[in-house]
Amino acid sequence: MKFNVRSRGDHTSNVLTQRIKTYLEEFDLIYDEQEPDIVISIGGDGTLLEAFHQYKHRLALTSFVGIHTGHLGFYADWQPDEVEKLVIHIAKTPFKIVEYPLLEVVIRHTNDQETERYLALNECTVKSMEGSLVMDVEIKGESFETFRGDGLCMSTPSGSTAYNKALGGAILHPSLASIQLSEMASINNRVYRTIGSPIVLPEHHTCLLKPKSEGDFQVTIDHLTLVQKKVQSIQCRVAEEKVRFARFRSFPFWKRVRESFITE
Ligand code: NAP
Repeated sequence: MKFNVRSRGDHTSNVLTQRIKTYLEEFDLIYDEQEPDIVISIGGDGTLLEAFHQYKHRLALTSFVGIHTGHLGFYADWQPDEVEKLVIHIAKTPFKIVEYPLLEVVIRHTNDQETERYLALNECTVKSMEGSLVMDVEIKGESFETFRGDGLCMSTPSGSTAYNKALGGAILHPSLASIQLSEMASINNRVYRTIGSPIVLPEHHTCLLKPKSEGDFQVTIDHLTLVQKKVQSIQCRVAEEKVRFARFRSFPFWKRVRESFITE
């Protein structure tokens, strides 16, 4: 089996990375940065987001597992003192795979530039570069509302505990193939009206965001920030691809939610 280990870059994560690499090579696993079967991410959820984007072109062939060197994470749920146990699991047992849904974002431009397609593990956010964001929101081809406010966030179920949660979005179990649209400070008065609460769309329900006027937009895909010009539409839906996590033991999602947000 081929593996890669990705570190957040701090001293603790780097030391752990070297240890795991040595252990796994002693078990005759092959270190391969290009085509790993498994990627061990060491740091936090942010480190796993970066690992995901490095291998998003081969998601069906690469599985991820995360070790946290800071606080407990959603993607990084192994502790540094469990490294030996994890290494033995990776080397000796065929691992179970758990798949989580992803968000597909397609950006089209008014000047017929090539369409851009992105995959997000957490979310995509859209903000205006200047002034309020004003976008028509269509769901399944039907006009839904005109949004006016700071921005919009479309998250995956596993990303629902990240930016989406800070916006008052619901936490969704990652087994639900869905995406969630939440608002950032919408303007609501007698002239402008939005739904005002987060909405959850199932698979095959496409959400189209169409700017009311030409302008520049700041679009984020997970930790990546893009400036998008001449945007005609931003299309969001559940992606066909899924991300695969290697599971060696049970760690129920709701237990992780509780331990991250309620009690240690
Ligand atoms: P960052 O600003 O350095 O860190 C964002 C924080 O979000 C970190 O504490 C990170 O955990 C945590 N996080 C990432 N994915 C998560 C998840 N699925 N569930 C719960 N927490 C999660 O940025 P970054 O490390 O590059 O991560 C980018 C992410 O930051 C974006 O995808 C977005 O979700 C999030 N973000 C949140 C807000 C907000 O809450 N107001 C604003 C902007 C961006 P670790 O410390 O374990 O890495």
